[in-house]
Amino acid sequence: MNKIAVLYDAGQAVLSTFDLDEVLQRILGIAHDYFHLRNVAIMLLDQQSRELYVRSQIGWDKGQDTIRLPLGHGITGAAAVKKQPVYAPDVSKDERYFCSAKTTHSELAIPLMLRDEVVGVLDCQSERVNHFDDETIDLLTLFSNQASIALQNARLYSLERQRARQLQAINAIAQQTTAVLDLEELMRRVCELVQDAFRVSHVSLFLREENDLVLRAHHGTLTLHIPQGGRFPVGNEPWASILAGNRTGIESDLGNAPATKFFAESASRVRIPLVSFGQSLGVLALDSSQADAFRDGDLQSLESVADICATAIQNAHYVERVKQLAYLDGLTGIFNRRFFELRILEEIERARRYGTGMAVIMADIDQFKRLNDEFGHVLGDEVLRQVSSLFHQQVRKIDVVCRYGGEEFAILLTQTSAQHAVNIAEKLRKMVADWQFPGVPRTVTISAGAAAFPDQGTTRDELVKAADNALYAAKQAGRNRVCLGVASRAYGVGL
Ligand code: GH3
Ligand code: MG
Ligand code: MG
Repeated sequence: MNKIAVLYDAGQAVLSTFDLDEVLQRILGIAHDYFHLRNVAIMLLDQQSRELYVRSQIGWDKGQDTIRLPLGHGITGAAAVKKQPVYAPDVSKDERYFCSAKTTHSELAIPLMLRDEVVGVLDCQSERVNHFDDETIDLLTLFSNQASIALQNARLYSLERQRARQLQAINAIAQQTTAVLDLEELMRRVCELVQDAFRVSHVSLFLREENDLVLRAHHGTLTLHIPQGGRFPVGNEPWASILAGNRTGIESDLGNAPATKFFAESASRVRIPLVSFGQSLGVLALDSSQADAFRDGDLQSLESVADICATAIQNAHYVERVKQLAYLDGLTGIFNRRFFELRILEEIERARRYGTGMAVIMADIDQFKRLNDEFGHVLGDEVLRQVSSLFHQQVRKIDVVCRYGGEEFAILLTQTSAQHAVNIAEKLRKMVADWQFPGVPRTVTISAGAAAFPDQGTTRDELVKAADNALYAAKQAGRNRVCLGVASRAYGVGL
């Protein structure tokens, strides 16, 4: 009766905490104190390698607690296989015995079971031969049942806590990402938050750009093999099937596939497609330096995170697009005056810093009002589009063609001298004059004025004014011609 009370107390003590380490210590403490054992241990079963390892122990000889016993080895291994307590009253006579403490003379191993599955073994050793009588074995077996339940509770609790943490992280990611509309900043934040919430070694974001996947952001402790911005074809496996099927892929052991690894130390990896409105934007990848770090149970949380990220990335894309639209002219698709005003400042600054020079051309279609009157506005619009496209094709990629207003264009030429700018303007003038505009059975011409830094001006206003005055001069001189500006400071003084 007294023993039952002891057992009840012991069970309560074990069940009163959810912390796994504390549970294990209490189990061992009770076995040690109540049953007068010198030497007790909880061994857990590694489900993958099917080995027992020491999770917690009292009284083992130094260094012995790092052993891993394959199922069937030692008294503990035998108990795990039999799913029954195994008792060796005199270990010197039992050939299954594996020595973990020299003073041990008898050993009792009781499997810790969850339903019909062995999760570990409670190992009890005594320095006395025949230490365990039937009653003690029964009591310890009952106690070990309670220990199994406590173990399971602690595991569930830790899993729940992990879930709660992940849920909190999902919330945090949702809150923090919706506020970030800059794509680069957003991707950086996502990698940091996911790494922190899921406690993995490294998090990377690959975005799809045409037929490539590009590493756009990453955060963590592993050594990266490819540079940020590094790209590879979307058709490469296993990325292709992840993207094609919009399916998450877990790789539990990357040890044998070093060629597909982006990190030297990566041992397992999960890759989740980023899908927004059915469109695959890229892949969120989590790498761990430990094999088998990802469980199916984590996937739901990870997929929720990936969904939030995909939406946030899509939003940031839209914002970028809207920003871009604010700088584009709706009719012609080339940059607008707002963009010109910003870019000219950057170009002047660059020219000033590196002494490389830059130039501006202002060009205006001649008698455009008449063209509208003769052929109608719709055709007038088409002429504007075609002139824009001719200009765009004729200048270098680094030059900027803008619609300055109405039928007037401003062109920014980097690293260009005044004379060179005049030559380019002349080339454009000739090009337009020779162009056969569909539906316009006559010549369309432009006039242009050029000005360069620093000869005709050193500020935005000076340069624009000089080019504009030169354009006016070209109109005055009879149109269909190009004039070089005069320093507007000189104009200012002269007028
Ligand atoms: P000039 O040779 O002196 O430049 O004469 P112009 O007729 O080209 O110049 P003016 O400034 O008198 O007229 C510009 C015309 O451009 C007036 C306006 O109707 C027309 N215009 C401005 N924007 C557009 C547009 O978006 N589409 C069309 N079709 N016409 C436009
Ligand atoms: Mg005009
Ligand atoms: Mg005009």
